[in-house]
Amino acid sequence: MIKNRYGSFFERLATLYGEMDSSYGNAAAYYGFDCKGCIENCCLTRFYHHTHIEYLYLLEGLSSLAQEKQIKATKKAVDYNKKAIEYDVKKKQVRQMCPLNFDGLCILYNYRPMICRLHGVSHELKKPGRDIVYSPGCGEFTRQCESKRYFRFDRTPFYIKMAQLEKDLTLKFGFTTKFKRTIAQMLADDP
Ligand code: SF4
Repeated sequence: MIKNRYGSFFERLATLYGEMDSSYGNAAAYYGFDCKGCIENCCLTRFYHHTHIEYLYLLEGLSSLAQEKQIKATKKAVDYNKKAIEYDVKKKQVRQMCPLNFDGLCILYNYRPMICRLHGVSHELKKPGRDIVYSPGCGEFTRQCESKRYFRFDRTPFYIKMAQLEKDLTLKFGFTTKFKRTIAQMLADDP
């Protein structure tokens, strides 16, 4: 079972996700930002995820669902990937709904990856040896909150901890390949 094999890494990841959620929540509360009903919907964005640990954790979440739902999500992921290839070949920019979004809700909300947790609110990031980069937040955030003064929301410590966690995991289990997959590719095991 995945959980037993990666248990201590999953615990570290869950703690890190908790820190992200709390920090994001503070920033969103300051702005009074609420993205419910947003028509842009970030679940329609083709995000790539870059860590084995988040992939394994998502699979752990998937395995906790009823089998019928697992099958449905995996089928949706296969369709998503097929269409994504077709659109790419035709050089069409078509947004598709993430296969984990069922009727507007994420069915693996507690297991969703970092970018799903941090996307939206204006933030800053400091990469080693570079200046701090400030990012404005998503379209809905800009519409609702651009007149407000910036609330410091620093993603840097989360990225550092995630990189360390990924490094520890890959060293322990000897993973040598780089990881880059969408949610649909993770679910359909389609690199
Ligand atoms: S994993 Fe969940 S929150 Fe993230 S894009 Fe998919 S449905 Fe949305």
